[in-house]
Amino acid sequence: MDDSGRGRVNVFVRIRPPLPREEGEPSCLTVDEGETNITLQMQDGDAVERVLAGGSFQNSPLEKKFAFDGCFDGESEQKEVFVAVGKPVLRDVISGYNGCILAYGQTGAGKTHSLLNAGGRSPQEAGLLPRTIAALFVHIGSDTQNVYNVEVGTFQLYNEQVDDLLAEAGEGTRGRNLNVVNSGEVQGLTWLPCKTPEELLQAFQRGRNNIVYAETKMNKASSRSHAVFQIKVIKRARATENKGAAVKMKATVGKLTVVDLAGSERVKRSGVSGQQLKEAANINTSLLAFGNVVQALADKKKFIPFRDSKLTRILQDSIGGNSKTSLLVCTSPAAESCSETSSTLEFASRAMRVEITATLNQVDVTVDPSKLAADLAGEGIDKALL
Ligand code: ADP
Ligand code: MG
Repeated sequence: MDDSGRGRVNVFVRIRPPLPREEGEPSCLTVDEGETNITLQMQDGDAVERVLAGGSFQNSPLEKKFAFDGCFDGESEQKEVFVAVGKPVLRDVISGYNGCILAYGQTGAGKTHSLLNAGGRSPQEAGLLPRTIAALFVHIGSDTQNVYNVEVGTFQLYNEQVDDLLAEAGEGTRGRNLNVVNSGEVQGLTWLPCKTPEELLQAFQRGRNNIVYAETKMNKASSRSHAVFQIKVIKRARATENKGAAVKMKATVGKLTVVDLAGSERVKRSGVSGQQLKEAANINTSLLAFGNVVQALADKKKFIPFRDSKLTRILQDSIGGNSKTSLLVCTSPAAESCSETSSTLEFASRAMRVEITATLNQVDVTVDPSKLAADLAGEGIDKALL
């Protein structure tokens, strides 16, 4: 992405380490020396099954090569992923652009670990979102020129229903089944102002706990639901003197959207019968629409079906236009997941062709002279907006 805001979606692939039960099994993926190319090795047994099932044997080499903006192998650390994927997007959000980070891949591929792992007793395990939050406040604390307002909102999208994950419990249906308006905003979503990284991390953790709550009620809903975390960063120039009168100035508003997408394996082709038809009925409308939107954008189609699902309406700006967007594609190394991994990487390649143009978001704000003490004391959090 250059400074004009023009560019394309950046795509990164992360291969998780083998799980204990996969130890010693062959891996179907290798990351090349330069860490931008990845090779997928199909087992010939898989290819035999495919031909038996009526698939073509023509033009289907057993080895496929893909090129991405970055590839992380099973030994990569959370910190590396944050530095490559999260940090540049955070920088853009602080500058006043919208930014979006999406984790995509089949269930068990490492999406939640990569994005949301809170670290707990082993901070080196902390994922991209907690690192982004910490890095945001490190920046705020070191910026001598500007002051900031930070707000957080989080919701879950399940069965085309949007539920606020920060709505207080015990308030009936408040926060349930919220509407998405044309701009992609979720109407009535709770936005919590956060003055410290602890407050923001706590809000994020509360949201996460509410996902787990929903999971037990909805029978493994988490692999079929999308979890969305948003952080608004409002920045204005720090006042260096108190003129005693209200001052009008420009502020920038950057919005970061981090999405832990539903497991991609549920998306089955239509035109099937029997058991497969039952599975097709479970198609995740939003994920299917997301795939179609990426395909249409990659093919530079005139009509992009953003309106086909709640997720694509919410992400319209992120994948279709006004956002700097990175896709973190998570994969299992296991040979048994090879054909699933193959379609995941095909999808990731299409996403490499999606172009975006982000514009700076600016608003007019008025600074209250009676509340300028924090500015003058050198604090980073804005307490003087009217
Ligand atoms: P997903 O959210 O894509 O369904 P998870 O993040 O829950 O997958 O990961 C599945 C399992 O693999 C979890 O037990 C997780 O702790 C583990 N895992 C995933 N990625 C890594 C990694 N990079 N390092 C160590 N363990 C991982
Ligand atoms: Mg998960």
